[in-house]
Amino acid sequence: MIGAGFGGLAAAYELSRGGLADVTVLEKADDVGGVWRENTYPGAACDVPSNLYSYSFARKTDWGRRYAEQPDILGYIHDTADRFGLRDLVRTGVEVTSAEYDESAATWRVAAASGETFEADVLVPAVGQLSRPAFPNIPGLDTFAGPSFHSAQWRHDVDLAGMRVAVLGTGASAIQFVPRIRETAKRVTVFQRSAPYVIPKPDRAYTDAHRAAFRKVPGFAAAMRGLIWEISEFFGLALTKLAPLARLMGVVASANLKRHIKDPMLRAKLTPDYPIGCKRVLFSNDWYPALACDNVDVETEAITEVAPTGVRTADGRLHEVDVIIYGTGFKATEFLAPMTITGRDGRDLHAEWAEGARAHLGMAVPGFPNMFLIYGPNTNLGSSSIILMMEQQARYIRQITEELASGGVARAFEVRAAVEQAYDAEVQSRLDAGVWTTCDSWYRTASGRVTTNWPGLVHEYQRRTRTVALADYEQVLPERAAKKVGA
Ligand SMILES: Cc1cc2nc3c(=O)[nH]c(=O)nc-3n(C[C@H](O)[C@H](O)[C@H](O)COP(=O)(O)OP(=O)(O)OC[C@H]3O[C@@H](n4cnc5c(N)ncnc54)[C@H](O)[C@@H]3O)c2cc1C
Repeated sequence: MIGAGFGGLAAAYELSRGGLADVTVLEKADDVGGVWRENTYPGAACDVPSNLYSYSFARKTDWGRRYAEQPDILGYIHDTADRFGLRDLVRTGVEVTSAEYDESAATWRVAAASGETFEADVLVPAVGQLSRPAFPNIPGLDTFAGPSFHSAQWRHDVDLAGMRVAVLGTGASAIQFVPRIRETAKRVTVFQRSAPYVIPKPDRAYTDAHRAAFRKVPGFAAAMRGLIWEISEFFGLALTKLAPLARLMGVVASANLKRHIKDPMLRAKLTPDYPIGCKRVLFSNDWYPALACDNVDVETEAITEVAPTGVRTADGRLHEVDVIIYGTGFKATEFLAPMTITGRDGRDLHAEWAEGARAHLGMAVPGFPNMFLIYGPNTNLGSSSIILMMEQQARYIRQITEELASGGVARAFEVRAAVEQAYDAEVQSRLDAGVWTTCDSWYRTASGRVTTNWPGLVHEYQRRTRTVALADYEQVLPERAAKKVGA
């Protein structure tokens, strides 16, 4: 596996279970945790309830609140890795630079930045969709004289108290940290390119009684998880199938805006100008109250440059600030970058994906035998827990690995090109008919293809990946063996 976030660890658990495979997880950082190791900004938290945003095989009954904050989520990942012996499988400080399929032996040769190499029968890249910070393409970014940093690389050594702070972006991260930093900053100027839809977050601290119920009442924790799952699917239905439900969400978002923002000018600025659901719908109880504060400004003029003393907008004004924080998200559509992945016959994965990343069920790519992705193309969700998808992918990969292990002959499974093409055509036509193609967002490539999101419900994905259809795959023998068979 490449990557020790929620995805790589889910796969490591599943494939090492029962001694099925000799698993090694290569992780470039010095710890497990993925995005929850990196995103330490104030207020970082999940926006899917923790009962569901956690592994099915590692239930936790003592979450502090319904939507856990980053330290608790990272703690949970650490505990799970310890509890299931997964840490022993992880090699930290190993950044994979390339992986090449060796046809003569039907194995993957993996190279790390250190010069070390590894050999694997099955390669499982699990490097996430949101692990590489994106900075805006604005002139002068490097000229700013004060501290500037991305929300996923938070500078805890920069004390924001009494500072004038520019925040670029109004996505899922900014809406979590702006309410926190404005408490001590002198002034926060939020530069907004487009207004998000924000609906109230039904968050609450769990009481001892809650925790006791989770622990002691048989079936309670499982029932809550199931209930949250179905509620998330309901949101998923609104985003993927039932426009009237989405409109209902729009009414809730609009009422939330009206309730907190009384100034008509500000309210107009904060009113989204695209259909609800096209960009990620955000959950927050303190975003609008923070923006209504005297020390917070919302600037909607386009930014033309970053200057040594601040941020200049299209109207010529220079907004002087002491610190710039980029809440500008991630390079979500650049799957598996910057690694070089070379498949059968010297195929380069990034060349194959020139029009956008694609994979059968988000996992298998023609020409790349025995490589299966976790959280690959078109497996992100607009509403529910990504962990459900990852666990399902891990189970699918386990089935293929079992099949490989049982054969007694070195070989590989390669998804048939026709199967992948039919799958991709279906997914893209469903996406074309949906809300995600109605505006620009991080879900789409520059050419407009939605490469991140799954167009259906989690239940559908589960159904379609429950049992591997071996007929979807060609069995590739190593060249040596093939010659032998031919002879
Ligand atoms: C702030 C934030 C909040 C989120 N909240 C939610 C939520 O509430 N619900 C939800 O469902 N999803 C949420 N997500 C989405 C999140 O990305 C997934 O839920 C999940 O954590 C991704 O796990 P992963 O293992 O696929 O990727 P990551 O967590 O990104 O882990 C990938 C790992 O791969 C490593 N890696 C990358 N490249 C290499 C390389 N070349 N060599 C070796 N190692 C490498 C990275 O260092 C990293 O540790 C959130 C994301 C962010 C950023």
